[in-house]
Amino acid sequence: MDAAIQTVPVSLGSGSYAIDVGSGLLPDAPALIRAHLDLQRVFLITDEHVRWPHAERVGQLLREAGVAAELLTVAPGEPSKSIGAAAALWESLLEGGADRASVVIAVGGGVVGDLAGFVAATYARGIRLVQIPTSLLAQVDSSVGGKVGINLPQAKNMVGAFWQPSYVLVDIDVLQTLPDREYRAGLAEVVKYGVILDADLFACLEANVDGLNQHRSELLASVIARCCQLKADVVRRDERELSGARAVLNYGHTFAHALEAVSGYGQLLHGEAVAIGMLCASRLAESLGHVDAAFTRRQAALLTALGLPVAVPEVDRAAVVAAMRYDKKVAHGRLRFVLPLRLGQVALVEDVDPALVRAALEC
Ligand code: NAD
Repeated sequence: MDAAIQTVPVSLGSGSYAIDVGSGLLPDAPALIRAHLDLQRVFLITDEHVRWPHAERVGQLLREAGVAAELLTVAPGEPSKSIGAAAALWESLLEGGADRASVVIAVGGGVVGDLAGFVAATYARGIRLVQIPTSLLAQVDSSVGGKVGINLPQAKNMVGAFWQPSYVLVDIDVLQTLPDREYRAGLAEVVKYGVILDADLFACLEANVDGLNQHRSELLASVIARCCQLKADVVRRDERELSGARAVLNYGHTFAHALEAVSGYGQLLHGEAVAIGMLCASRLAESLGHVDAAFTRRQAALLTALGLPVAVPEVDRAAVVAAMRYDKKVAHGRLRFVLPLRLGQVALVEDVDPALVRAALEC
């Protein structure tokens, strides 16, 4: 077993669990998972891109370890976060004899994690869940914190639950098969953690651009573990998104969601939209006097060095501002934004003038 496992504890009122991060962990998945929960019958949920080699391999290892393991595969991509896909999985669990002692293991990116988590949260009023995230975004963000759910045709993530996993296994080696563009999109969320919570992490990213671009193992493992720790700390303070503490994670996201909607879903990856959105939020913070232009330039330089887009695409600016009114962070029709105050610190700013928001879309 890899000696260099970094374990991030997630301590919550509703139950605590561990996130193990390291390289070469997948071959030890049965033992690592069994250290946290008993396994008799498991249902691995994955998508067609991740099935080979990763999910099939975990299934095989589990069967060799004496666990009854069945693989359920969904189509890759956001459309699988649907009631139809969830219903098909509920039926498969029933046909496969899943009961309250069974375990769902999500092996995939954020789509698989959110969907499989939702199915685990709802089947038989909730069965245990293990996350094996395989995209960088899922490793640093969506597999941590227990938000699971599906989309409605009109609204993303509108139906879901808070359902914490019993264990999260992050093997950075699975990122070797992740398309480069998806990897870079995940790096945008990593940069976000630095800006909102951890100036040292941000400086570490600046100092290690080459290592990040070359997927250097130890660097990636420590950066991912740090991001998991930062998210776990936020989630611990606001597990169910009631106090507002969890809102800091949405830095750049109000702009990003609106840009994704107006430019047509699929044009920009979510992480790419977050990269552009963070810079818009930073320019908005500049216009409100919270930060200076050098602060925004510093973020832009890092995002550019990591191969992320930084310019707002050619879209109707007024439509972008209009789309923000559908954002979950809009309170009583007034625009609210997570804005930086300095590196490592952000604040939720209420009632922002739409004219300033529109101006922040101009680079
Ligand atoms: P994704 O799951 O669609 O994965 C991106 C693509 O990479 C897919 O085609 C997938 O099949 C492929 N892929 C994943 N891992 C791979 C690997 N190791 N090798 C080869 N291909 C691989 O998208 P994502 O960016 O991982 O996640 C986005 C989703 O996460 C969105 O639905 C978003 O709403 C959700 N999300 C949830 C939370 C949360 O807290 N629950 C947080 C952030 C995002």
